Amino acid sequence: MIKARDVAFEYNRRDNDNNIVSIERALDGVDFDIKPGEFISIIGHNGSGKSTLAKHLNALITPTEGTVWVDGLDTSDAANTLKIRQMTGMVFQNPDNQIIADVVEEDVAFGPENMGVPTEEIWDRVNKSLLTVDMLERRHDSPNRLSGGQKQRVAIAGVLAMKPKCIVLDEPTAMLDPAGRRDVIDAVTMLNKKEGITILLITHYMEEIIHSDRVFVMNKGRIVMEGSPANIFERAPELSEYGLGIPAVTRIAHILRNRNMNIPADVLSPDELVECILNTIR
Ligand code: ADP
Ligand code: MG
Repeated sequence: MIKARDVAFEYNRRDNDNNIVSIERALDGVDFDIKPGEFISIIGHNGSGKSTLAKHLNALITPTEGTVWVDGLDTSDAANTLKIRQMTGMVFQNPDNQIIADVVEEDVAFGPENMGVPTEEIWDRVNKSLLTVDMLERRHDSPNRLSGGQKQRVAIAGVLAMKPKCIVLDEPTAMLDPAGRRDVIDAVTMLNKKEGITILLITHYMEEIIHSDRVFVMNKGRIVMEGSPANIFERAPELSEYGLGIPAVTRIAHILRNRNMNIPADVLSPDELVECILNTIR
């Protein structure tokens, strides 16, 4: 679905006379392959290059060096931009910047309308997209009346209505309360498992990566670790070198294992851990 080879990206900082005063190498030798239907999480501390990478995936920016292909299309070729943008939807951090219409359903209809989708089909897509993110009963509401998590789900429905093969979410939960975060992550997980949409989820909440197939850890513009969530959580010392910690559930599981309790390595969520503890004492 997506392939990156030797990708580097440099931001030029310019002064008022437009002279380049410094060059920031935000990506530095990034390589990866993402298969259709995969769920990838990307973690890394602030400034590690996550957002810069995300913007490459729907040709918002193109590599300074190297190549990114989306479904075989080179993002650097301007003739591919429109196709790539229809294939890869983006969801950003701040829901207020992504919702433009005064009514939820009109907001979701905006994308397909712009693409020239016939009217009846637009309403079909709007219905289905809002149902998928569990926001159908709010279709006639003003987005102002929604919580942050509900707004993000409407933003996701807006992307879904364009029938993308892939959705890239750049810290979609950063501004949400815990309930809103859970609902958004549930919706994203469902899109992957039920609709088969390829997902790239950027987050700095470790507990949000547990549903993904693979995790990329970024540091200084590079992918420095890669593995399943369980594999990544087993490498706590390496993670801490990159300024990242493991979730509470994983720490508790470690402690219990050291006390000879039988907790399998694939126990990642609080529910799984509770179930496991109950089984050992039953
Ligand atoms: P992250 O999303 O992981 O926080 P970013 O991709 O936003 O990281 O940033 C990577 C690096 O690029 C940082 O050092 C950041 O300061 C720099 N950077 C990001 N955007 C710009 C910009 N528009 N101009 C100059 N430097 C930038
Ligand atoms: Mg960012």
